[in-house]
Amino acid sequence: MTILILGSGGREHTFAWKIVQSPLCQKLFVAPGNSGTAEIAENIDLKVTNFEAIKKLVLEKQIDMVVVGPEDPLVQGIHDFFLNDEALKHVAVIGPQKAAAQLEGSKEFAKQFLCRHNIPTAAYQSFDASSLESGYEFLETLTAPYVLKADGLAAGKGVLILNDLNEAKAELKSMLVDAKFGAASTKVVIEEFLDGIELSCFVLTDGKNYKILPTAKDYKRIGEGDTGLNTGGMGAVSPVPFATESFLNKIEERIVKPTVVGLQKDGLDYKGFIFIGIIKVGDDPKVIEYNVRMGDPETEVVVPRLKNDLVEIFQAIANQQLDKITIDIDERAATTVMLVSGGYPESYEKGKEITGLENLTEVIPFHAGAVLKDGKVVTSGGRVMAITAFGNTYQEAIKKSYQNIERLHFDKMYYRKDIGFDL
Ligand code: AMP
Repeated sequence: MTILILGSGGREHTFAWKIVQSPLCQKLFVAPGNSGTAEIAENIDLKVTNFEAIKKLVLEKQIDMVVVGPEDPLVQGIHDFFLNDEALKHVAVIGPQKAAAQLEGSKEFAKQFLCRHNIPTAAYQSFDASSLESGYEFLETLTAPYVLKADGLAAGKGVLILNDLNEAKAELKSMLVDAKFGAASTKVVIEEFLDGIELSCFVLTDGKNYKILPTAKDYKRIGEGDTGLNTGGMGAVSPVPFATESFLNKIEERIVKPTVVGLQKDGLDYKGFIFIGIIKVGDDPKVIEYNVRMGDPETEVVVPRLKNDLVEIFQAIANQQLDKITIDIDERAATTVMLVSGGYPESYEKGKEITGLENLTEVIPFHAGAVLKDGKVVTSGGRVMAITAFGNTYQEAIKKSYQNIERLHFDKMYYRKDIGFDL
């Protein structure tokens, strides 16, 4: 098969690394890709939301399967674009159609879905500019902290958690009336604060059958001890030690099954990954959010633990035969630590040469914001590279990640030194 991966992060390098191991893959393209994917596949420079350019590439290179990494093309309807075009509809697209992608594209849609199907989640109400006063009244019925969520996609920045009622009211007004997050905050979901520990659950579905992948925990804040600004993710661990078998059973029975059945009942076609953000409150799982694609950096620990042929799984998803697949997971733990450009997630410099890659042992460097320039690997983004290691325990794995990071260098390189230390 000829396969195209859309995206340019560590997630997409991990998919590429796994896909090229499959005998079913004859040729792999990644668009736009990075320095890591350039080593193992052919990069094509295009924007992942430029559907016409993607169509041209797919026809020209006779691509059989498109694996969509990030959420934007899914929420904008790339799967529907393929289905509605005679010349493209034979191509397998891994990722949900536009209507189902609203599970990530609209927080209100996701909350309505969760409530309609009796899936445990925080109590909520949603508001727009015309119901600002009711929003204030609803806030007054809650106790601090207050959780405000912009309805639409806001590049991971649309959720505010505030301790003060007046501040929460002011932020609500700024979101609804002053378009703090642009069109994304035309509506705002206000929800009950849930106190607990978070983990991510990854599900594959063909719309009828599902398979659960290993859990992972990611580290969102820039600073050690979970302090400072939110980032795209600074590291991850899989499996999550506190996700016991009985807790995982609760997740499957109360969340995964009703989600897949709910999609069917609502007539929402879904072929791809469902990433469920879960919070453990006491001994019970509740859904914090849905994402309609894999997480980054969680992919960098979940996919390496998957022993199956990923292309075979994707084919089974496309043909609605996921029930024929038995998922086989490496028992070892995997960890990843993200190297970032100094200053990230605020302003940072690019174009710094990354050295020492040839000295790495027993780890897999998944490139993210890194590109090839004059034969050198240089930084091109905030999150630069995820260093993944395996171990019999996650402590052993994380030690390997850190030992190898010491062999790497780029100007103003930063990483958190406490990934997994709280587990
Ligand atoms: P979301 O984009 O919905 O995942 O929210 C971003 C982050 O905000 C989550 O990963 C949680 O850490 C936090 N969060 C969201 N909703 C709640 C809630 N109801 N209670 C507590 N924390 C929350």
